[in-house]
This record gives sequence, structure tokens and C-alpha cells, in this order.
Amino acid sequence: MHEASIAYSLLQMLLEIGEKEGAREIRKAVVKVGKLSGVVPECLSFAFDAMKTEYSKTENTRLVIVEVPLTYLCRRCGKTFTREDFIFPECPFCSSAETELIKGEELDLEEVECEV
Ligand SMILES: [Zn+2]
Repeated sequence: MHEASIAYSLLQMLLEIGEKEGAREIRKAVVKVGKLSGVVPECLSFAFDAMKTEYSKTENTRLVIVEVPLTYLCRRCGKTFTREDFIFPECPFCSSAETELIKGEELDLEEVECEV
């Protein structure tokens, strides 16, 4: 399962941060997930919750998943816009078809809250 391996590496990242910060536990982790990353937020939450109890630092960690919409950049006018669906859309400002997906594939650990 894709989400299980992501949850696992996420936990390792958190444990590493917790170690560095000398934290007793990690309270909260905010993850940004792009709509095109292929990650289903519910599955990631589920996998994370199932695994987090194996470590004392992450036992009570609350995982917050923020979905990032698809963001496109227009190469002609330089403006950016967001879309819900994945098609190469025309620019709503100048109707150019030369648009480029610039956000939507990421999976980033955005914020970590530690209890020291
Ligand atoms: Zn444009």
C-alpha cells in the first residue's frame, strides 16, 4: 500500500525532528498533499494512526492533512490560477493554452509541533 510507506517515512521524519529538538513528544504534524500526488488523505491518516503508537514520541501525534489544489502558471501572461481537475486548461486571463502545472504533486511536511 502506497500510503503505508508514506506514513512510515513521515513517522521517521518526525522522530528525527523530535530527536533533534529534544522533544518528549510530537503533538501535531501538518502535511501538504497535492491532488496529483496520488495520496488519498483518508488512507494516509489511517495508516499513520495505525503506526504512530509504536513510538512513544508519536503516540499522540495529530496528523493534519492539507490538500493543495492544482495550480497552473500561464507562460504567456505569467499569472497563476487553480483548477480542481487535471486537464491542461486555458489561462482564464489571456486564453493562452501554454499553461504549466506548478503545484499539485507535492507531499511536504509543512509544520511540526513538539512538546519539549
Ligand atoms: Zn495567461
